[in-house]
Amino acid sequence: MIYDSYVKLCIQQEEDTDGCSEIVNLGSAKTELYKKDDYQQYIINMVHIPHLIVGAGPVGLILGHYFKRFNIPFQIFEKQSFLSAHPSAHYLNMRTMEILDELNIQLPLENIQHFSNYVYLRRIGEQPLNSTRQLIDYKQYSYTSYAHLPQSLFVQHVQEGIRDKIQLNKEIKKIEFKDKIIKVNDDITCDYLYGCDGLNGFVRDYLKIKLIGNRDLQRFLNIHFTSKQLVNRLEQYNSMLSFIYNSDITAVIIKHRIEDGTFAIQIPLDLLTGKTDIQEVQHLKQDHVLIKNLINKTLRNQVNDIEIKSVGFWRMGAVYAEQYYKNNCVLVGDACHGMPPAGGFGMNTGIQDAQNLAYKVKEQKDLLYYQQERQQIAQDNIETALKFYKKSLDIAKSFTFDINKLKIYQSFYEKHSRFFILGWCETRGISYRIGSNLQENISE
Ligand SMILES: Cc1cc2nc3c(=O)[nH]c(=O)nc-3n(C[C@H](O)[C@H](O)[C@H](O)COP(=O)(O)OP(=O)(O)OC[C@H]3O[C@@H](n4cnc5c(N)ncnc54)[C@H](O)[C@@H]3O)c2cc1C
Repeated sequence: MIYDSYVKLCIQQEEDTDGCSEIVNLGSAKTELYKKDDYQQYIINMVHIPHLIVGAGPVGLILGHYFKRFNIPFQIFEKQSFLSAHPSAHYLNMRTMEILDELNIQLPLENIQHFSNYVYLRRIGEQPLNSTRQLIDYKQYSYTSYAHLPQSLFVQHVQEGIRDKIQLNKEIKKIEFKDKIIKVNDDITCDYLYGCDGLNGFVRDYLKIKLIGNRDLQRFLNIHFTSKQLVNRLEQYNSMLSFIYNSDITAVIIKHRIEDGTFAIQIPLDLLTGKTDIQEVQHLKQDHVLIKNLINKTLRNQVNDIEIKSVGFWRMGAVYAEQYYKNNCVLVGDACHGMPPAGGFGMNTGIQDAQNLAYKVKEQKDLLYYQQERQQIAQDNIETALKFYKKSLDIAKSFTFDINKLKIYQSFYEKHSRFFILGWCETRGISYRIGSNLQENISE
């Protein structure tokens, strides 16, 4: 049916004009003018995937589960040869747990009590400067409880049940539109394309959809490592996050998994090196001796079984896409929003986008409803994440005694506040202008 309309369009163009240049450019045939049969053959030779999901991150996988459940024919294309091994997100909120329950997805969760606190320390082993219990069950809102699992394990388990629908090493590099058909990478057609390809993804970029907000609030060095000894050192705190403030280093240690001692450390790049240009500090990624020294500085040489898994940089922003939907291409998850980690909203918001969207597709609703509903949620969650982040900076400021570090925090704090006022008033239609660099906040 779809092929028919596509062929008809091309034939129409051929009859109307001397050629059909758009098609000639797409095919591998050498001739400038195709005959009708050639067109039919050309289209028939293409693989048609009615619903094509780009990206097998947590959001693409959850969307896939819903499509399977609703008998919506789909495939997931993932550019990498493996699913992400970085633990990144780790907190699953109650709404996400309801979705996982609806999809019958079982996860190997550890006892949440071991992850219930944020502690603020000068050094590990000492009495905390402060400790707050972060996780509270709101039984009046949900029959589920929040949970904790590193994103790398999450995707490994969530791929079960739809593994046959995931094609690895398949990168989407080209999209073209013809009538209501979407052509992808010269050899695939689809009716709907779902960009679940993350914040730096190709789909949003290709559609020229702008991000609103500040893409670059803070940059971090992000080290993923294992240490069983560190599990024991931190046992007394029951901490998910341990903020370390001493004269050597300011860092946050994220306890991802007790069973295998999986951790991550995030260190603000400017506090570490005085530089924020990632190109200038690329060498850090390869220098594992230096990285081990950094971890030892953070841990004050209290563990000696560190195994580094990966080192990367992370740009933290607070943004959402001005449009979630264009030409039958839909953005989902980080592809249409990015937010500070405070509050653990990022992955949760994306998973909940996927659920909302899947029901809209199933019920053949106008996808603009998806945009209206989910864009508002993204804005609200970004606002809350920014508030939480601001709070954590206030705490950091009260503990950091190095005046230079304090200044850096101070300037970041001001930058953040400006974003908070300008970005949000602007996007909510309130006319309010202070400062001069509004432009910086609005574009990517
Ligand atoms: C350090 C850190 C801590 C975080 N902590 C939390 C937390 O506690 N709670 C929380 O909710 N969120 C957290 N987040 C955010 C969370 O990691 C993201 O929100 C989440 O990964 C978004 O999932 P996604 O599926 O939308 O995108 P991604 O996870 O980015 O997945 C996108 C996928 O698309 C693939 N892809 C990209 N381009 C193409 C292409 N052209 N063709 C085919 N495939 C492509 C990529 O390879 C990737 O597999 C954290 C993030 C970081 C970095």
